[in-house]
Amino acid sequence: MRHPADLRTILSGDLCSGCGLCASLAGDGKIDMEMAGPGYLRPAVRRALTAEEDRAIVDVCPGARIEGYGARGNTAYHPVWGNVVEVRAGYSTDPEVRQVGSSGGVLSALLLYLLERGEVDDVLQNAPDPDNPIGNITQKSRNRADVLHAAGSRYAPSAPLARILDEMGGDGARHGFVGKPCDVAGLRSLLGRNPALKDRVPYVLSFMCAGMPSENGSREVLRRMDALDNEVESFRYRGNGWPGFATATLADGTTRQMDYQSSWGGVLSKHLQFRCKICPDGTGEFADVTCADAWYPGEDGYPSFQEQEGRSLIITRTERGEALVAAAAEAGYIVLEPLPVATSGAAKGAGARAPAGDAAHGTAPSGLSRSRSRRGGADAVAPTACPEFRRHDVPAAADGLSPFAEEVEYLMRRRASSFRSVPRQDVCGGGIFRGQVFFGRLSRPLVPCTCPRSDES
Ligand SMILES: Cc1cc2nc3c(=O)[nH]c(=O)nc-3n(C[C@H](O)[C@H](O)[C@H](O)COP(=O)(O)OP(=O)(O)OC[C@H]3O[C@@H](n4cnc5c(N)ncnc54)[C@H](O)[C@@H]3O)c2cc1C
Ligand code: SF4
Ligand code: SF4
Repeated sequence: MRHPADLRTILSGDLCSGCGLCASLAGDGKIDMEMAGPGYLRPAVRRALTAEEDRAIVDVCPGARIEGYGARGNTAYHPVWGNVVEVRAGYSTDPEVRQVGSSGGVLSALLLYLLERGEVDDVLQNAPDPDNPIGNITQKSRNRADVLHAAGSRYAPSAPLARILDEMGGDGARHGFVGKPCDVAGLRSLLGRNPALKDRVPYVLSFMCAGMPSENGSREVLRRMDALDNEVESFRYRGNGWPGFATATLADGTTRQMDYQSSWGGVLSKHLQFRCKICPDGTGEFADVTCADAWYPGEDGYPSFQEQEGRSLIITRTERGEALVAAAAEAGYIVLEPLPVATSGAAKGAGARAPAGDAAHGTAPSGLSRSRSRRGGADAVAPTACPEFRRHDVPAAADGLSPFAEEVEYLMRRRASSFRSVPRQDVCGGGIFRGQVFFGRLSRPLVPCTCPRSDES
C-alpha cells in the first residue's frame, strides 16, 4: 500500500488535518503552523527539508497514515468503534466541572484526577487563545484553574502537536494529553517510533470528532449573532450547560448567543476541512479513553439538543484507560452509568493479534467481512469513512440501546451528508481504508479500493 511520498504531496492532496506534528519534527524554525485559506492551520515551510526530515514526517503524519502504535491491547474490537473495553455514560461529580464541560465534563474530571493524584505532572491540552477570541492555543495545565479554563469544545483549528517535542522536554516529566482523534493518531505514531518517549505521555484522551471547521465558520457565527470581530472579548463555542450556547462576550459587557443546533448544525459543520470529510477515525480509536456527547434521543429519532444536565459517553479503549476511569469513579471524581451497546461485531483480541501499530493490516473484524470480499485481499479492511459502508454495515441496534445507537446514527448521517458535497471519485476512487488514507483528491485509484462501490468509480 502506498503513502504520500512527502509533505508537499500531503499538502497538495489536502490531506492535512493541521495537527502541527511536522512543525515539531522539522524543528529549528523550519516549519511554522499558520492560518491558510478560509482559516485552517497548515504548515508553512520556511526552509527546505532534507529527505530524511521529509521521511520522518510522512512516517507519523496523520494526514498520510493513521496507526495506533501501542494503543491496542487484548481488548475487544468493534467494527465501527474500534477497540473497546467498556462503554458507559457518566458525568463529573463536581457541579462546576460538569457545567463548564462540553457534555458531562468527564474529560476534565479525568484530567483533574490525574493531576491531583500525581499520575502526571501536567496536561497538554487545547485552550482559548488570549489574543484571538475564536482561536486556540496549546496549554500546559498544572492545576484545577488551568483545566477549567480549557474545558469545553472549541470548534476551531488547533495544532496541539506543533511543539510536542519541546513540550516533552528532557526533564523526565510525565504528561497527559487531550486532542482530536487525528492528533492522537499522530502522537501515538511519534511515541511508538521513539521508545525513549514512550512513557512520557502515559495517558492519552480524546473525543469523538465530526470535523474541524475553519475560522471563517466562527466568523460566520459571529456575523449571525450581530457581533463584530473587533468587539468580541471572549467566545465560547459551547459548554456552560449541555449542549450549551455559543456565546460571544463583547467589550461593553453584553453577550450574544446562539443555540448549539444553529451554531454547529447551521453554520460550523458547513465549514469543515477536506481531511475531515474522509476521516477514517472520528471516534478516537487510539486514545486510552474517548468521550462524546451521550445525547438522549428526541421524538424525531435525532438526538435531543434541549438544554439539560451534561452527560458524556465514555469509551475506554485500553486497559490503562479502563483503570483510569474506574479509579476516578472510585475516588468520587465521576459518576458512571451502564450503557449497554451492541457487541455482536466485536472480535476479542483482534487488535492484539496484529503487530503493534499495524492497524491497517490487522485482522479484519468479523462485522466487516461482507463488504470487503469483492476486491480486497485478506489483509484489506473495509473503509469506515464510506457512507455506503456505513449504510450497510453499521450493526443494528438492539432494544434498550437507543442512546448509543442514536449517537451512532447521528454521526453516520452527519458524515454521510458531508460526503455528498465531495465528488464521488474523491471518496471511492481515492481509496479510504480504516487505518490508512490515500490521496483523497486524486481522480483515479492508486490502490485497489475495498469499498463495494469502487467497481462503479
Ligand atoms: C471539533 C470537535 C468536534 C466534535 N464532534 C463531536 C461529535 O461529532 N460527536 C460527539 O459526540 N462529540 C463531539 N465532540 C466532542 C464533544 O464536544 C465533547 O468534547 C465530548 O462530549 C467530551 O465532553 P466533556 O464534557 O467530557 O469534555 P470537557 O471536559 O469539556 O473537555 C473538553 C476537552 O477537549 C479539549 N478540546 C476542546 N476543543 C479542542 C480542539 N479544538 N482541539 C483539541 N482539543 C480540544 C479541551 O482542551 C478539553 O480538554 C467534538 C469536539 C470537538 C472539539
Ligand atoms: S496532518 Fe499534521 S503532520 Fe501532517 S502535514 Fe498536517 S500538520 Fe503536518
Ligand atoms: S474529523 Fe478527523 S481529521 Fe477532522 S479534525 Fe476530527 S479527527 Fe481530525
